[in-house]
Order: sequence, then structure tokens, then C-alpha cells
Amino acid sequence: MMNKAIVIYSGGLDSTTCLFWALDTFDEVYTITFDYSQRHSIEIDYAKKTLKLAESIKNKKINAHYFKIDLSQIGGSALTDLSIDVPKNRGEEEISNGIPITYVPFRNGVFLSITAAMAERYDVYNIIGGWNMLDYSGYPDCRDDFLNTFEKAINLGTKAGALGKTFKIHTPLIKMKKSEIILFGKEHGTDYSYAYSCYSGREVPCGECDACILRAKGFKEAGFEDDFLTRLKNESNNST
Ligand SMILES: [Zn+2]
Repeated sequence: MMNKAIVIYSGGLDSTTCLFWALDTFDEVYTITFDYSQRHSIEIDYAKKTLKLAESIKNKKINAHYFKIDLSQIGGSALTDLSIDVPKNRGEEEISNGIPITYVPFRNGVFLSITAAMAERYDVYNIIGGWNMLDYSGYPDCRDDFLNTFEKAINLGTKAGALGKTFKIHTPLIKMKKSEIILFGKEHGTDYSYAYSCYSGREVPCGECDACILRAKGFKEAGFEDDFLTRLKNESNNST
């Protein structure tokens, strides 16, 4: 039987790592990318570029899906409400303390529900996400317990589950630090040239938001150059 998996794919560093791991691990890979009226749609443009790149590096077709859902109707987060500012230049301690204003109300629960529906429709029983507890300990819907319980809910609440199929939620990065994620990604040939993390939405990452700060630290500790910044440097050298 074909071993199929679906990756919840935002186009950021963690989900890009998951994508390359999935391409090495499963026969057939689906992705679902959410356009949830987030602050910036630039990450979706970059997600498309990484998907193309990954297909050519791994020589494998990806079944890419895009899903529109307007979470700005709910708001309550700096990522879905433009009147709330994204915090800048916070120290590491501050970042890891408490639930940040970039938390989107139950986003992972919403994404997982839709992903489970799509997985059931395509007979895909492996669901993969780049959830991570260490760097973003503040996001409660990224916790192990939550994800294990949600897996049970999917198996109880789907027709496929009732008929004896078993859905599994895979969390390969759940206990890794950012630097370990990057090392794990490199072991699987991950190219981060278009993996976009910044909350600013500018083509050149701001370097000041929580995501930029954690990413820079991760690459430094892992001992790798950030592919994204290397690409930008090369592009600006070529244009001058
Ligand atoms: Zn940034």
C-alpha cells in the first residue's frame, strides 16, 4: 500500500523542515497551506517557491493544496488584526515567557480539523506538522498533550476512523530547539532559500521580530549560514 502523508505547510522554517523529512519518509506527499487572512500573504508566495524547489531537489511530485479561511473575522492576534503591533527586539527570556500576542486563537485546532477532513477525503492517514514546544512554549495548541488528544478526536470523529483506519499525527520537531531543527533539516537535504519566517512581511526579513531573532540564533548555533539570507545576498550581487 502507498504510504501517504499530508504536511501542514506554512512555508516557514519548521514546516519546510517537515516537508523535506516527509519527502524522504513517505511515498506520496500532500501539503495544505492556509491563507487565513494573515498579516502578509508573502509567506504563501514563498511557500509555492519552496514546494517547487523541493520537488526538483527530491525529484518527487507534491500534491499541493491551498485553503482559504478568514481568521481576521475572529482577530485577537497581531497576525490577524492589523491594529495590533507585532512585538520587536524582545530578549530571549521575554520571548519564551507567556503567551505572545502573535498567538492566533486556536489556530492549530482549526488547521488540524480542516487538515483531518482533507486527509480523510484523500485516504491519507499520516498528518505532519512542525509544532514545537521549546522555542514557542507559549503556544498552548502546540503542546504534545493537545496533539495526542486531537489525534484521538480525529480517530473518533471520522468515518474512516469508525471503519477501522487509524490516523496518526506526526510531530518530528516537537522537542527540538531551533538549531536542532536546522541540523535535522540539513540531514534531509532541506533548502531554506525560500523558507520565510519574518512577521514583517517585507522581502528582506526585519531581524527584529521574535521569529527573526529565534531563527538567527538557530542558524548560528547549528553552524550554518541562513540559506534565505545567502540567496538575497547572491541576488543583490548579481543585479549590481
Ligand atoms: Zn522579522
